[in-house]
Amino acid sequence: MQSQQPQSTQEITQHVHQWLSENWDPEADLVQWRTLLAESGWGAAHWPEDYFGRGLSVEVSAAIEDVFAEFGAVGTAQTGVRMLAAATLLEHGNHEQKRQYLRRILTGEDHWCQLFSEPGSGSDLAGATTRADLDGDEYIINGQKVWNTSAHHAHYGLLIARTDWDEAKHKGLSYFILDMHQPGVEVRQLSQMNGHASFNEVFFTDARIPRENLISTAGNGWQVAMTTLAHERRSFDRSRENKRVKQKGRIFVELKKELDISNEPYTWYPQRAGRVDLVMQRAEETGAINDPVQRQEIARLHILSESAKWTAQRAKAAQKAGKPQGPEGSLGKLAASEIARLAARVHTNISANDALLTGPNSVHDGVVAEILVSVPAVSIAGGTDEIQRNIVAERVLGLPKEPRFDEGPFRNVQRNSAAKDPSK
Ligand SMILES: Cc1cc2nc3c(=O)[nH]c(=O)nc-3n(C[C@H](O)[C@H](O)[C@H](O)COP(=O)(O)OP(=O)(O)OC[C@H]3O[C@@H](n4cnc5c(N)ncnc54)[C@H](O)[C@@H]3O)c2cc1C
Repeated sequence: MQSQQPQSTQEITQHVHQWLSENWDPEADLVQWRTLLAESGWGAAHWPEDYFGRGLSVEVSAAIEDVFAEFGAVGTAQTGVRMLAAATLLEHGNHEQKRQYLRRILTGEDHWCQLFSEPGSGSDLAGATTRADLDGDEYIINGQKVWNTSAHHAHYGLLIARTDWDEAKHKGLSYFILDMHQPGVEVRQLSQMNGHASFNEVFFTDARIPRENLISTAGNGWQVAMTTLAHERRSFDRSRENKRVKQKGRIFVELKKELDISNEPYTWYPQRAGRVDLVMQRAEETGAINDPVQRQEIARLHILSESAKWTAQRAKAAQKAGKPQGPEGSLGKLAASEIARLAARVHTNISANDALLTGPNSVHDGVVAEILVSVPAVSIAGGTDEIQRNIVAERVLGLPKEPRFDEGPFRNVQRNSAAKDPSK
């Protein structure tokens, strides 16, 4: 139980300031400090009181984060898939799962990955054929996932697998927490055209999941996955740029080490978003700013980018007002995709041949070239543009749904998967 809470935002932030004056120590051990934050409820104040929060609004929680920033104090871990795991557990996990995993998410001790996509089911996520067969108190997992960001350093995976082949496609899926460090889980890194290796293939051969790691109920995996995806789409434009850790003290040395691991798969994410922030600088450096045609394109890019920020603010306001996840996630994600593509075109026009150069003597150390080969990811990750358009058409505009050819028991549905039929 937490102590009695102050009332107004101002009282709360003053209280947090006082609490930090009494407890913050830059020479502390990072995990110990974050454990204290989790137990105090100030590290994730908008989470429920029973689960390391204070049950406060997202708005007040943001004001508390500002106090931490002003104070120069380290907050809880917030990068990577762990935040999707937290959102999913908070909504669908049971008491034991929340107690077991949420604290270590806040302390940063555990890294997570998302094991959704398969070679035969990316957009068609509900067509997953990785199987989970109950054997006593354990599920036995066989199959393959792909494009799994951070799986190479994850302790746990959020796994969607098929538990019932005789149910309809969406109803035979279940959602699990998988321990990645066990025999039967093989992770292979994939090389990307921009030179990074953020994703992996993950192979399961008789891997095991204890029954208590099933989230929600067997067959309810699709509903749980929708929560994860809605949070992923909503947070799409959040910057994951490596925070520069400049302050002195033991805790900052440990924080830098943790961020180097957590953020390693995301170092190219600012470039995949198109680096709109670099456009004016490049236009001035090259003189493109004096060309009326280029100026027009630059203005179009800035208008799109500003409108997308307003859409994101509307989504935030809806969240603060306690409204359920709405279509803004899909709209925001589509906007991010348009912006990234237009930004890549504008950068190409501005930098011309130089946009192709990489290495030490190239434009901004190859950043422009990295933009060009990274932006295609925005239109694919977290659901492709076409899928977002289908969602907007069907759920927002109420247009007729696409005809379905996948009804009835999944065992009989025609599928994309490879030669060996995993339903047998
Ligand atoms: C940067 C990045 C990070 C990722 N991280 C993860 C991760 O951590 N975990 C994870 O599980 N996955 C991850 N993914 C995978 C991602 O979710 C899939 O790539 C995506 O869902 C698309 O699936 P696919 O690649 O199989 O393409 P497909 O589904 O094969 O699509 C191919 C093309 O067909 C179009 N198409 C398909 N169905 C329809 C339809 N019904 N209507 C119209 N057009 C359609 C698509 O839009 C696309 O253009 C990541 C991908 C990227 C790029």
